[in-house]
Amino acid sequence: MLISKCKYQKFCILTFDFLVLLSACGGLGGCKVRQPTAPTPQMDAKPQFQVRVLLLNNITACTLKTSSPYSIIGSIDDFQSTIENRKSGIPVSIQLTAGRITIAGQPFTNDQITILPDNPHIFNLNGDSYRGKLKLIVNPDSNSFDVVNVVPLESYLAGVVGAEMPGYWEPEALKAQAIAARTYCMHIKKQFGSNRAWDVSKTQAHQVYLGVSAESAQVWDAVNQTQGQVLVCKHSDGSEDIFPAYYSSTCGGHTENSSNVFGDSFEPLVGVPCPYCKDVAKPTFFSWSDVQFDSNDITARLLQRYPTLKQLGEIADITTAKQSNYEDFSRLTEVKLLGSTGKSDFLKAEDLRLTIDPTGRKIKSTICRIIKSGDKWAFLSGRGYGHGVGMCQCGAQAMAREGKTAEQILTYYYPGSKILTIEY
Ligand SMILES: [Zn+2]
Repeated sequence: MLISKCKYQKFCILTFDFLVLLSACGGLGGCKVRQPTAPTPQMDAKPQFQVRVLLLNNITACTLKTSSPYSIIGSIDDFQSTIENRKSGIPVSIQLTAGRITIAGQPFTNDQITILPDNPHIFNLNGDSYRGKLKLIVNPDSNSFDVVNVVPLESYLAGVVGAEMPGYWEPEALKAQAIAARTYCMHIKKQFGSNRAWDVSKTQAHQVYLGVSAESAQVWDAVNQTQGQVLVCKHSDGSEDIFPAYYSSTCGGHTENSSNVFGDSFEPLVGVPCPYCKDVAKPTFFSWSDVQFDSNDITARLLQRYPTLKQLGEIADITTAKQSNYEDFSRLTEVKLLGSTGKSDFLKAEDLRLTIDPTGRKIKSTICRIIKSGDKWAFLSGRGYGHGVGMCQCGAQAMAREGKTAEQILTYYYPGSKILTIEY
C-alpha cells in the first residue's frame, strides 16, 4: 500500500502449480507430499465484499492456466454466450486481435469477458496463481486490455497479509496487519471503486497482493480469526466510519501525521512515538546507507511527473520547507525547489522521494538530509523505511513479541480508532 511496504523475503513461497506438482509426485523418492491448496471460500459474497484487483494493464496478450475446468462468459457474434466446462491443465493464449479478445483462437465481440474457474476457483495468469474470477476488459482505444481479478475480500487479504509481512511473524502482528489491510482496502474501494473497473492495484501503490503464493496456514489463521473486523473512527460529520488505515515498514522512531504526507486528515492518523521498530527492523532499514542521484536525472524526473515545474528550469537547490521534529531526528515533510530561472515551488517530501526513486528502496524515507554534492544530490543520515503514516509494521511485530494483542497494537498506532465487525 502506498509505496514503501515491507519487502521481506517471503517465507515458504510455493505457487499453486508447484503444489500440484508436489502432490502429484508424492510417491517418488525425495518428493514431499503436500495437500492441494484449499478451495476459495465465499465465492458467492455480495459485490461489496468482492475486491477487484488490477493484475495487468494495457497488455495485448497473456497466458491462462487452471487446475479445474472453467467457463467463459462473453459474446460471440454479438450474442451473449457462456462456454462451460473448458478443459483444465492446458495453457491458453489470450490475445487482442483487431480490437477483439481472442481466447484459444475463439474471438469475442464484447469488451468485457469473465472467466470463472470451477472449485477450488484458482487460476494461473502468466505463472502467478490467484483465487476468484478473472475479467478481461478491452480499453477504450481498442489497442490493449486490462486484466482484473475479482476475489472475495478474505481471500484477497490472505494474498496481502503474506505479502506485506513474513508469515512466520507473531500471530497478533499478522492479525493487526489483516485488520489494517481490510480497513484500507474497503476504504479505497468505497472512495474510488465506483469510478473505475477496479478497486485496487496489486502493487505498493495500494497494498502488495501476491495471490496464492503469499498464503500460509499462519496467514489464513490471521485472516479467519479477524474475519470482517475493520477499524473505524469519528469522521468530521460526526459519523463513525472506516478510514484509510495506512501502514509502513519501519517508522524509524516516530510515526507521521497523514496530513503531512497524504494531505488527508483523520483522528487516528496522527504521529505517535514508536520505541518498538528498532528491535525488529533490519539495521540497514532502520539506518540506511547514503545514496546519490545525478542532478540532471532529478530535474528530468521531477519535470516529467510535475509539468508545472518546467517554469523552474534546472532544479538548482532543494531546501527544507517543513519538517517534523522529534527527540533525536527530523522527518522532512515539505521541500522548496529553487530553479535556475529564479522561480521556486514547493513539494511534499514524500512526493519528491518517490519521484526521484519510484521503488522507494534507495531513498527509503524522508528522514534524511539532502545536500548538493558536485553534480549530484546526496541523501544522507537516512532512517526508517516507508512513509511512516499509521501502523509501523516492524513496531507491530515488536509489540506482539511483548505480548500485546492485535487490538492493543492497532489502538496504539491508530489512536481514537476502534474495531468493528462487519457481518457478511
Ligand atoms: Zn516504528
